[in-house]
Amino acid sequence: MKILVINAGSSSLKYQLFDMDTKDVLAKGACERIGIDGSKITQKAEGKPEYELVSPMANHGDAIKLVVDALTSSEYGVIKSMNEIDAVGHRVLHAGKYYSESTIVTEDVKKVIRDCFDLGPLHNPANLTGIEACEKAMPGTPNVAVFDTAFGQTMAKEAFMYGIPYEYYEKYAIRRYGFHGISHNYVSQRALEFGNLDKKNGKVIVCHLGNGSSISASIGGKCVDTSMGLTPLEGLVMGTRSGDVDAAVVQFIANKENKSVDDVLNILNKKSGVLGISDVSSDFRDLEAAAEEGNERAQLALDMFIYRVKKYIGAYTAAMGGVDAIVFTAGIGENTVIIREGVTESLGYLGVELDKELNKERRKDERCISTPSSKVKVLVIPTNEELMIAKDTERLVNAK
Ligand code: AMP
Repeated sequence: MKILVINAGSSSLKYQLFDMDTKDVLAKGACERIGIDGSKITQKAEGKPEYELVSPMANHGDAIKLVVDALTSSEYGVIKSMNEIDAVGHRVLHAGKYYSESTIVTEDVKKVIRDCFDLGPLHNPANLTGIEACEKAMPGTPNVAVFDTAFGQTMAKEAFMYGIPYEYYEKYAIRRYGFHGISHNYVSQRALEFGNLDKKNGKVIVCHLGNGSSISASIGGKCVDTSMGLTPLEGLVMGTRSGDVDAAVVQFIANKENKSVDDVLNILNKKSGVLGISDVSSDFRDLEAAAEEGNERAQLALDMFIYRVKKYIGAYTAAMGGVDAIVFTAGIGENTVIIREGVTESLGYLGVELDKELNKERRKDERCISTPSSKVKVLVIPTNEELMIAKDTERLVNAK
């Protein structure tokens, strides 16, 4: 079975074509600057030369047409016709409270994606356009929506409610939803499997540490809590996002700097986090290098990042009444040795024992980096959101 995975952003569209028998990626590519001057498509396909074409793309429909051309090109492509594609899996940001599982796209599903535009204003419209473009380009091929918020739907009400007047939950569905759900779902399932944990009761904390960072607690793969909230702004200190702050900070900065609420939220989303603290970079490789050269603010940014992750691990261990595995994933979680060491070094009270040598090994595979006597396993599991989307799509299409 061949499955095309689509991740449509506001001005981009990334794609991967999977052969589900081998789980191999046959081709992957991206359309950039959709609706902006200088749009281009790039593709890398198995055994074929790399492809790049600068071509105007007014919308996602135009982008899908170029994806079809690239995938079926005799020189650069890997299939003869789009009929070879059995289904398309779409990453969709927000399903509000409506879906806790991936689902085959119907008119009702599209309505839910549309109804959630105000909860995911940058992503949901692009996701819907991506689905509609595929419906047009590949009539009759099933589309599956895999929601980033679905994983968070198993949280108990006391975990997902905010302490604000209840009417705002009823009127506007304001609550914690959580994001990076496809990654947390994939990695927590892999942790149960790879870590040899109890499939029903295994308690796992996943630290998805990338440019956007979030952390989740799950029991038997079901989410108990997660750090991002109504939007991806809440929780850990991130590349450019502040994570948790006292909400009154917004009013304080707005008054002092004569800015609007929108301006301040823009600062909290795009100019804060480790970038805002260090004034060096949002990239941890730059921060590490600067800190080594004695840049105190870069060191402070790293220390703050580590401290916040540790604090959440403590809170989530308490929420679950224990933890069996702590897992690191995403760009920083998979690659940054000092962050994994910093986070775990004071977790001895939980029975965590990091093997510092294993932690230093630069590898790309799933691995355990705790000592054999550690009461809590420390794992590094590379995230693979595209494969998770492809697997969910395959499962739903086969069950049809
Ligand atoms: P992500 O958002 O998951 O792509 O993660 C991006 C972050 O991973 C960047 O801020 C980098 O600082 C960090 N990172 C650290 N080491 C590496 C590496 N070797 N390759 C890629 N990203 C890295």
